[in-house]
Amino acid sequence: MAELVELPSRLAILPFRNKVLLPGAIIRIRCTSSSSVKLVEQELWQKEEKGIIGVLPVRDAAESTSVGSALSPGMGTETGEQSPKVLVSSDSHRVDGINQQELIHWHKRGVAARALHLSRGVEKPSGRVTYIVVLEGLCRFSVQELSARGTYYVARISRLDMTRAELEQAEQDPDLIALSRQFKATAMELISVLEQKQKNIGRTKALLETLPVHRLADIFVASFEISFEEQLSMLDSVDLKLRLSKAMELVDRHLQSIRVAEKITQKVEGQLSKSQKEFLLRQQMRAIKEELGDNDDDEDDVATLERKMQSAGMPPNVWKHAQRELRRLRKMQPQQPGYSSSCVYLELLADLPWQKASEERELSLRAAKEHLDSDHYGLSKVKQRIIEYLAVRKLKPDVRGPILCFVGPPGVGKTSLASSIAAALGRKFVRISLGGVKDEADIRGHRRTYIGSMPGRLVEGLKRVAVCNPVMLLDEIDKTGSDVRGDPASALLEVLDPEQNKTFNDHYLNVPFDLSKVIFVATANRVQPIPPALLDRMEVIELPGYTLEEKLNIAMQHLIPRVLDQHGLSSEFLQIPEAMVKHVIQRYTREAGVRNLERNLAALARAAAVRVAEQEHAVPLNKDVHQMAAPLIDSRLADGAEVEMEVIPLGVNNHEISNALKSSSPLIVDEPMLEKVLGPPRFDDREAAERVTTPGVSIGLVWTSFGGEVQYVEATSMVGKGDLHLTGQLGDVIKESAQIALTWVRAKAADIKLAAAGEINLFEGRDIHIHFPAGAVPKDGPSAGVTLVSSLVSLFSQQRVRTDTAMTGEMTLRGLVLPVGGIKDKVLAAHRYGIKRVILPERNLKDLVEVPSAVRNSLEIVLVKRVEDVLEQAFEGGFPWRKHAKL
Ligand code: ADP
Repeated sequence: MAELVELPSRLAILPFRNKVLLPGAIIRIRCTSSSSVKLVEQELWQKEEKGIIGVLPVRDAAESTSVGSALSPGMGTETGEQSPKVLVSSDSHRVDGINQQELIHWHKRGVAARALHLSRGVEKPSGRVTYIVVLEGLCRFSVQELSARGTYYVARISRLDMTRAELEQAEQDPDLIALSRQFKATAMELISVLEQKQKNIGRTKALLETLPVHRLADIFVASFEISFEEQLSMLDSVDLKLRLSKAMELVDRHLQSIRVAEKITQKVEGQLSKSQKEFLLRQQMRAIKEELGDNDDDEDDVATLERKMQSAGMPPNVWKHAQRELRRLRKMQPQQPGYSSSCVYLELLADLPWQKASEERELSLRAAKEHLDSDHYGLSKVKQRIIEYLAVRKLKPDVRGPILCFVGPPGVGKTSLASSIAAALGRKFVRISLGGVKDEADIRGHRRTYIGSMPGRLVEGLKRVAVCNPVMLLDEIDKTGSDVRGDPASALLEVLDPEQNKTFNDHYLNVPFDLSKVIFVATANRVQPIPPALLDRMEVIELPGYTLEEKLNIAMQHLIPRVLDQHGLSSEFLQIPEAMVKHVIQRYTREAGVRNLERNLAALARAAAVRVAEQEHAVPLNKDVHQMAAPLIDSRLADGAEVEMEVIPLGVNNHEISNALKSSSPLIVDEPMLEKVLGPPRFDDREAAERVTTPGVSIGLVWTSFGGEVQYVEATSMVGKGDLHLTGQLGDVIKESAQIALTWVRAKAADIKLAAAGEINLFEGRDIHIHFPAGAVPKDGPSAGVTLVSSLVSLFSQQRVRTDTAMTGEMTLRGLVLPVGGIKDKVLAAHRYGIKRVILPERNLKDLVEVPSAVRNSLEIVLVKRVEDVLEQAFEGGFPWRKHAKL
């Protein structure tokens, strides 16, 4: 035991600079200075038994001036002893030739230490010897006198720590017992805190349990870092109780400082993880971006987006949703996968017209009527219906009336009527094309979870038009179809239902949008394909197509002025006489509407524009070119260059140029020009005559989505097994009609004496082939019945049908002729094709009122009840069998 060590009265002193060795502690010192090397060699190395030396703390004199003075009296009071200070300086104490270069303070108390281990090394290159000494502190001593022995010091000392007997006595002291218990508790607490951080604390824990009380304080304090001053004060605490309480104070302070440090770290870490972490990351991000040359500032982007969102006037629930999304966006890096889609989504939210509406001006019905009249020729019934619609809106703006649906062939003005409604109401107009929409997502959008998801067409349209109360045209509503991807019609139902469209839910948008302020107008080519539920919500207004005269008027009053204007021309440059327009209508277009007519007129205007532009170059120069222009030409010429330039005399403006052009007569379209620009005529009235050259061909009238059309039916027979072949993309209904027609003809063959035609039997051993030309166009419907019968009778009787007669009507097996639809379109088509007679079912008489009287009057309309009547009318000179009968 260290306390049993007998200390010699003199000890060689090893100075320990700014450090303290406490009893019980073990230190490792490298001795390099010549004095300490000497000390080790003489006092430790050369001795057989490992010797004891004194380790005395020293302090630099420079530091001691302030600290030393404060230290010395303090020590005295603490220990209750006088604490003299030994000051050794080179000039004041030059002890035995030791030349102490610097001023040092020796502490007056030290610790006797035993060398546990010694090792000697040679330090290169000078060959100087160094020692490494491992010392264990034994007990405190105080210096009585310091003197030099060669190059090192020796001191006369007196022991300070208690002897064993004294200790045993002291350990009985109840105060000390209480104090030591308390110390152990505090020390344990510190250990448990440190245990979480340091793995090797177990040794200290073991010491706490095994060491005697008087060693505990020193060893424990030595095991953690304390300042030099504190170490000194521990050294100076000779009294056991004082030492324990001082050690306890130190341990406690250490504990507190660890706790505070922990708290601070936690707090700082917490703060870092929020704002500072974000800041740091942003800084890094910016640095990376700069490095990549990607300079646009996303911070700003997001801020701009937020500003835009704020001014979008979103309803509160949408705003909340948008805020949430924006917060997510802020946390994302631009490189992150969802970043751009999130941006696009928020942009859409900000762009949508949540509240922005075009101000509806006070609706004047007269102005609206004038507007409609000035844009559209004819269509008086349609216009009247529109005016009624507007009148109701005027009286009750939030009326939930039916949705107008314009039905008719292309180019009859459906779209332009809808845009006129918008103009009359002072609202914006947006057209949503539904043609070919088969996917419900086209209307309602894709959910954002899909890659490449988009909003539906309605939301897209609203974004485009940027007001929440436009007139929205649902174009070609009959062309939507349903398949596995859902039914667009059901989505449209929701859109058109005033009860539901207040909260229209687009899957992409994912928040409700109010469509109730939108005025919907729909267009369709045909009524039949529109799902009944949808049709139920709409009021159908039919636009059947125009007669030649109507087209002529539309062209003269509307199309030509518009086309000229679009091409920068006027009637002063180009004139298209009525006769030529008529030619265009009859020979170049055969349509129900006026779209191709407009296209052809535009072609003429383009050709004229080229002519006019060429002519402009040839503007004859005004003779009296202004004086001022002359020097300009001269100067150019003076340069030696040959100048070719047109000089427009000053004072002559564009107006005068056009005058100059005017003087050269306007271009008047004539037949050669028509042929040159539009090519040879595509249609003529001779078509029917040319096609019906042989028996077996008849002329029917059909109804297509392009309006009424003339349809030829060709039949022929050849040797075979009595089969019926049908070609020309026919649907089931029309195929059945053919079967019915053939059956009827076979059944009636004897009656109408068809078998008598020629020597051969037409029905046995012969195949019959019926073809509907324009084979690429699908055809269906029952209305070709009478045409098929005529064709077959013509074939079997070898009589040609009349080339001026077209027919339509469904037939029964018993030979009755049933009414069919689309009479108006069909009659108009016949008129268009130059047909003179039309055979119609008698029960379609009522439909004839819809046919413009001009057309009606120009045609001979024959109403029939039975197939025999049809045959009577279809052949020149009446029913063929009669002829045969005569034979
Ligand atoms: P749709 O929508 O029926 O296919 P549009 O409305 O696009 O047809 O009309 C085609 C062109 O014909 C437009 O330029 C339109 O102004 C013109 N048009 C059609 N009908 C008339 C009419 N009755 N009066 C004047 N222009 C017309």
